[in-house]
Amino acid sequence: MPPRGGFGGPGGRFMTDEEKAAQPKITKKLLKRVFSYLLPYWKQFILVLICIAASSCFGLLPSVLTGFIIDEGILGKNLKMLIFYIVLSLVVTFLSSLIGVAESYINSWIAQHITFDMRNQMYSHLQKMSQRFFTSNNQGDIITRMTSDIDGVESVITNTFKSILSNSITLIVAIVAMFQKNWILALLGIAVIPLFALPTRKAGKTRWTLTREAQECNDEVNGILNETLSVSGQLLVKLFGKEKEEFDKYKSVNEKMVKLNIKERMAGRWFFMVLNTVTNIGPMLLYLVGGILVMKYDDSITVGDITVLVALLGKTYMPVNSLLNIQVDWMRSMALFNRIFDYFDMPVEIDNPKEPKVPKQFTGEVKFEHVDFSYDGERQILKDVSFHLKSGHSMAIVGPSGSGKSTIINLIPRLYDVNAGCVKFDGIDVREMDLSMLRSNVGVVSQETYLFNASIRENLLYANPSATEEEMIEACKKAHIYDFIKEQEKGLDTMVGNRGLKLSGGEKQRVSIARVLLKNPSLLIFDEATSALDSISENKIQEAIEPIIKERTSILIAHRLSTILAADIIYVVKDGEIVEMGQHQELVAAGGVYTELYNTQFKKIAE
Ligand code: ATP
Repeated sequence: MPPRGGFGGPGGRFMTDEEKAAQPKITKKLLKRVFSYLLPYWKQFILVLICIAASSCFGLLPSVLTGFIIDEGILGKNLKMLIFYIVLSLVVTFLSSLIGVAESYINSWIAQHITFDMRNQMYSHLQKMSQRFFTSNNQGDIITRMTSDIDGVESVITNTFKSILSNSITLIVAIVAMFQKNWILALLGIAVIPLFALPTRKAGKTRWTLTREAQECNDEVNGILNETLSVSGQLLVKLFGKEKEEFDKYKSVNEKMVKLNIKERMAGRWFFMVLNTVTNIGPMLLYLVGGILVMKYDDSITVGDITVLVALLGKTYMPVNSLLNIQVDWMRSMALFNRIFDYFDMPVEIDNPKEPKVPKQFTGEVKFEHVDFSYDGERQILKDVSFHLKSGHSMAIVGPSGSGKSTIINLIPRLYDVNAGCVKFDGIDVREMDLSMLRSNVGVVSQETYLFNASIRENLLYANPSATEEEMIEACKKAHIYDFIKEQEKGLDTMVGNRGLKLSGGEKQRVSIARVLLKNPSLLIFDEATSALDSISENKIQEAIEPIIKERTSILIAHRLSTILAADIIYVVKDGEIVEMGQHQELVAAGGVYTELYNTQFKKIAE
């Protein structure tokens, strides 16, 4: 039987240069951590080990029984024994397969449970990560970590770990069995193993390099096709009269591809030719030396023994090959665990305090005391911001785009923590307050309204799962969205589409106002959309917002004069600093930043 597993396809048995460069250091700590995930399932794991050992032994038994079939059955001319050993051999093969099935089941069970644990651990860890993490990391990377990397762990357990165990056990049992039969022939058998193992590895490497080259070439072909056969690409080719040039380019890459493919196929052929011969050398040598031993030196060796030895030698090919190649899988697996652990080890930036404080009463009072803040530790976004919003009052924050208005409100529910100074909510530093309590008391209607792809009802219930139908209707009425909902065929059960795309910008914002009302926070923050809504939508939002802010402590990031005028006091922010504060009339008269904003922005929008 020719050895299998020597070839590496793309992503196969050899490491890429990048992988080699990024090889993880396999430390005791890393291994301990990897195996700590196995610990809760140690009983099942022992069962798997027993199954693997039993299945490997049973798998080898038929080879050993061949000896008895020949010696006692055929050569001994004993039909009864012949049939007995044949049936035994079949039964043993069946048993080995049966145990294999059980082992696969338990192994998959363990793998699934470990990945289940890891996924949950990762998800709850990610939920604790700050907004900074989500804004500075690529969303795709986060999802990959959650999905393919953790799925990879499953394959590590069901394939790599299993392969190491079963191949090692099979190899050891085969070698022990060979020595039991005859030590000279066993030694000879072991000596020929490198004869096939090493060329297999070498040929596999060559073929893998060729496959990779062919793949790169294929990418190049695809690139050309994508560029030149696209609508705009073709237009460009035609307008510049580059047909011939592009065709020549395509042809030459295509030619390269043909050569590489032939080379790759032939590398396989030569390899198999050599391999077939080499793999046959082992058995032939055993027959030769075995024959000489029987004829000249040791007549206790039987024909059956030699046959068993040859069969057992054949059984060592695959495990040796797999074990020789397992190093790459092992490194990849460790790199995978390392990547996952890197995520687990990321410190939780915004954590619940050890002894959280709770105010006597939540009223929504907010106090900023000399707050400095930077997103990246370099560029100062807020500088010495101080203000006091008394409970029941409302304030408007205005300022040019990018001046830091949203940043100010991000600090209240602790999406980020201040770098200096402090933010107090109902008299307590937000960093000392119970995080979930704080957040449940701050309601934000953001510029970018996010609705889940579900019904309006489900989106509303997200804020308060125990809200009754009446409460929902009441909130929708207050948010001036109920008339719209009533008109829909399915009413509250109307689906909002992916991210609420089936609703208009104004409708979405009013649904999100209703959602926040159901949450019933002590502080309401309304980040007014800068994007233009039509004046009807704007008026509806305005009508909704005005009575609401009269009822509770509110902060409005305002872009429209009508919103600004609804607030009790106006704060003007510029370059991260509060530069003015007061009432509309006095600020207009002051001739500062507000006057400029009024003349350039608010007045125009109001007109
Ligand atoms: P707009 O009116 O346009 O919404 P704004 O006054 O609310 O603007 P902020 O969103 O607070 O402004 O942004 C203030 C500054 O901080 C901007 O220069 C912005 O580029 C920067 N910034 C905002 N969010 C982040 C972030 N997550 N990471 C790094 N920088 C950020």
